[in-house]
Amino acid sequence: MRLNRLRQMLTGRDLDALLVSDATNERYLAGFTGSPGDAWLLISQDLALIATDFRYWEQAERQCPDFELLKITTRVDDVLPEMVQRVGGKRIGYEADSVTVAQYDRWMKPLSDVEWVATHEWVKRLRAVKDAEEVTLMRKAVALADEALAHGLQRIRPSMTERELAWIMETYMRTHKAEKISFDFIVAAGPNGAMAHYQAADVPLSLGQPIIIDMGAQLNGYCSDLTRTVCLGNPAETERFWEIYNTVLAAQQKAEAEIRAGMTGIEADAIARQVISDAGYSEYFGHGLGHGVGLEVHEKPRASYMSEDTLAAGNLITVEPGIYITGWGGVRIEDVVLVTEGGVEVLTQSPKEPIVQGDW
Ligand code: ZN
Ligand code: ZN
Repeated sequence: MRLNRLRQMLTGRDLDALLVSDATNERYLAGFTGSPGDAWLLISQDLALIATDFRYWEQAERQCPDFELLKITTRVDDVLPEMVQRVGGKRIGYEADSVTVAQYDRWMKPLSDVEWVATHEWVKRLRAVKDAEEVTLMRKAVALADEALAHGLQRIRPSMTERELAWIMETYMRTHKAEKISFDFIVAAGPNGAMAHYQAADVPLSLGQPIIIDMGAQLNGYCSDLTRTVCLGNPAETERFWEIYNTVLAAQQKAEAEIRAGMTGIEADAIARQVISDAGYSEYFGHGLGHGVGLEVHEKPRASYMSEDTLAAGNLITVEPGIYITGWGGVRIEDVVLVTEGGVEVLTQSPKEPIVQGDW
């Protein structure tokens, strides 16, 4: 099915084959789970070839039943001429985002019978529209993030450091089948929350401050991405906290109510941005509304004021507006949603009540 969709793209661009070297794209198309540079795929209308070295021969045979294995004994130039000859191609695409100039000069250029055509984000565009199996796997990754957050919030207390809370949630994920975490967790207490991509540090959590928690699990290859902002006990600056929190929440809820397939990424972003701007905080929402998620935590399509994408049914994207104020902190709320023809389905289930009460 995935190969069929790629083959239609080959026909559309009048290419005989595509050489795939991006590791995530290889996983998507062939099921191969190596690191960048470990394997090369060559896919034509009739053939699907995978070339890899001794370390991966057994793994490739197991993981990639739809692909014929060619064994590399030194470097890829061992087998690249044979692969090209097997597909009989004259016009072959390569992934311009993944092949280095050095690789091109050394391995591809000497094959002078071939017209090499640079392609840009072909497989990434296929990956943006998830099939049913992927949506099922993504639901599990999202649910694991929800569980890990609930586990962390049961244990959170003042004087615990940001890193300690991050580790409690990571431990939960790894002992509940996650391969790894989707990205280095953000736990940003108080003023640290004003830095949108701050990471957890050796900083104690205090009562009454906004604390941004942004985390996710990689499970069966798929990455979840979840943000909640919480406050231990009542907010120190009650009025300000609630004004900012409720503005971000309203922006997120409006976006989730109105986003649908056919909308551009810019239009989706504008729904939330308008709410934040109407409340007087436009200059404090400095990033895009959301991004695609799947095998990578950031992938296509983008839902941002800089996006060139149009949303389609089957996209999985995040909806994560935020307000960040230097010296005070930040509020961000992030869900993963499935885009459908009529709207979105919100996959994330974590509650959005920010106050955590305890007998501290
Ligand atoms: Zn996130
Ligand atoms: Zn995100």
